[in-house]
Amino acid sequence: MSDITGDYVQMDAVDWVQFPEGLCQGDIKWKLLHVSPEAGAWTAIFDCKAGSSFAKHIHMGPGEYFLTKGKMHVRGGDAEGGATATAPGYGYEACNAQHDHTEFDEDSEFYMTFLGPLNFIDDDGNTIALVGCEQVAAAWNASQE
Ligand code: ZN
Repeated sequence: MSDITGDYVQMDAVDWVQFPEGLCQGDIKWKLLHVSPEAGAWTAIFDCKAGSSFAKHIHMGPGEYFLTKGKMHVRGGDAEGGATATAPGYGYEACNAQHDHTEFDEDSEFYMTFLGPLNFIDDDGNTIALVGCEQVAAAWNASQE
């Protein structure tokens, strides 16, 4: 994962790992696929069971996703002026996008490339965790030991 000239991951040969507690509610697992420290970018795939959600966060840089399975409510979903992605669906989230509720009401899976960190915040806007490529690499490497 440190070779910036190229990378390849046989995704079905990598085991799902529980996404760090405190950054989500419910059962969310992930596989970190690549980090690009030179660009501050990182790519992961997430397996989100029905009833799970991500904790409140702000995207410090833009991100692109491909929902491969299920349904994802972003920024409140269609009902609240956000987007409800239905697989197969592509989405772009702008720099500084704030996601108060990213929810899954059915088993879902999405692939996403993030440019820059996610700033997980509490209800008062205070940072709980700044999660960038260094932090995801550390969390992932710890889970592989
Ligand atoms: Zn988000």
